[in-house]
Amino acid sequence: MDPVVVAGAGPVGLTTALLLSLHGVPSVVLEAKEEPGHVGSRAICMQREALWALDRVGVAEAMVAEGVTWTVGRTYYRDRELFSVRFPEERGGMPPWINLSQCRTEALLLAAAERCPLVDLRWGERVTGVIPGRRGMQVATEGGGGRRTWQGSFLVGADGPRSTVRQLLGVGFPGRSYEDQFLIVDVACDLDFPSERRFYFDPPWNPGRQVLVHECPGKVWRIDWQVPADYDLETERASGALDERIRRIVGERDYEVVWASAYRFHERVASSFRVGRAFLAGDAAHLYAPFGARGLNSGICDAANLAWKLAWELRGWSGPALLDTYAVEREAAAAENLAVTTATMDFLVPRSEAQWARRRQVLERAVSDPAARAEVDSGRLAEAFVYSSSPLTTPGGPAGPLVAGAAVPEPLRRLMGPGFTVLAGAPVEAGDMAMPVSVQLVREAVPAGWVAVVRPDFHVAGVVPAEGEALVAALRRAAGATVGEDESRGGGRAVLPVRG
Ligand SMILES: Cc1cc2nc3c(=O)[nH]c(=O)nc-3n(C[C@H](O)[C@H](O)[C@H](O)COP(=O)(O)OP(=O)(O)OC[C@H]3O[C@@H](n4cnc5c(N)ncnc54)[C@H](O)[C@@H]3O)c2cc1C
Repeated sequence: MDPVVVAGAGPVGLTTALLLSLHGVPSVVLEAKEEPGHVGSRAICMQREALWALDRVGVAEAMVAEGVTWTVGRTYYRDRELFSVRFPEERGGMPPWINLSQCRTEALLLAAAERCPLVDLRWGERVTGVIPGRRGMQVATEGGGGRRTWQGSFLVGADGPRSTVRQLLGVGFPGRSYEDQFLIVDVACDLDFPSERRFYFDPPWNPGRQVLVHECPGKVWRIDWQVPADYDLETERASGALDERIRRIVGERDYEVVWASAYRFHERVASSFRVGRAFLAGDAAHLYAPFGARGLNSGICDAANLAWKLAWELRGWSGPALLDTYAVEREAAAAENLAVTTATMDFLVPRSEAQWARRRQVLERAVSDPAARAEVDSGRLAEAFVYSSSPLTTPGGPAGPLVAGAAVPEPLRRLMGPGFTVLAGAPVEAGDMAMPVSVQLVREAVPAGWVAVVRPDFHVAGVVPAEGEALVAALRRAAGATVGEDESRGGGRAVLPVRG
């Protein structure tokens, strides 16, 4: 089998390669950098859905052990708390949130990739060309060793915001960029803040703008200040103003700057996530402002969605229509993420005097009027997308915790192997499937007379009557067999070697 070519050994590319290996699919990961190296702390907040995907590839346990778990987010206006949001922990589940520097996440993924015989990781290979074929892809690279060509079955462009793959495919990246900057500093200091997300509008230490504070491992605090468009970090560092800024929060305590950077954020989504045998994932496909932690978390969910579909195609367990659903499902998730983060940025970075005035007025009202608090947007934190209108999802089913299209409740996930899982209250015949399907008896979780079909990425494909025909139909649909002509962008009805 030709390998899947993955452009970019960032967290999304590495996760894709490792997930492919779970299904016996080899990959070659082409990375432009000459050697592993830190780009900076960047993503710290990892959400439980991403952690579950990372658990599949054996890195979540170490991430959770090393990271700081948090379950509460609080929002303040000046010195008044406006509201808090709690994220309950499930027994047997992942923490709802951990904070861990992206450098550490990448290091753990890299170590896992280096141990994996099916992942061929090549440093110093910058992707410069893509030649699509009917049965495969040729990918050209340039690096220290000169020009090379790689033959692959599919190409996954996980090469970040400036994605060469996206440009070579001629895919647009519409959206907008923000003028205001955000100064992000990781400060090592023995502060007595609790392990919570704390968002301050107009605090005395950044009047008129906002500050976000998060705890990271080793008593390091991620502090995120909104700063004006003409802000310059090096000028502030040299003049001592950065020290004054940090002192306003840490007081007289000793501190050390671990990492500092000023960012402009972007809100952009690729106009298509698939072109023929090439797919875009992670920042190559979408960029969101980070309030809500939807960047890397959604990139990992792209990888989880794409990897099993590529594997099913390569192993001969699906028709071509399954691959179309990657774009259908993840473009829908991206549209939701974009809408949520754009609304947040409209509140955080008003673009007119009228918007600033409205924001001030909402914040002042919110101090005494609980109804106004709903209008305060300090970032809606990432949650699992629900594939309710996906062609793979069999709609309907009884009311209960198992919802068609939604992520399966956490404690049940420990029962699931890398293939499809049927959750049933009593023994059921899943038919003679070519693809891997396991049946798990979970009497208390599934209503009597029903079974749930769960996809390899932990999403419920359907809750259907517990009889052979309905179950086989739901499994076939979830593997892309019944995507009709009008829904299939590949054209024609999918032919599936799923027996049943
Ligand atoms: C300040 C900040 C804070 C953030 N906080 C959060 C957060 O708390 N939670 C969250 O979920 N997200 C957060 N994000 C977003 C997160 O950092 C990104 O979403 C994440 O890095 C995307 O990973 P990726 O693998 O898609 O891309 P990248 O990390 O950009 O990796 C792409 C890789 O591709 C390589 N590459 C590029 N071009 C080529 C080429 N032509 N050929 C081969 N290789 C190539 C690059 O060298 C790189 O290694 C934050 C971002 C910033 C800037």
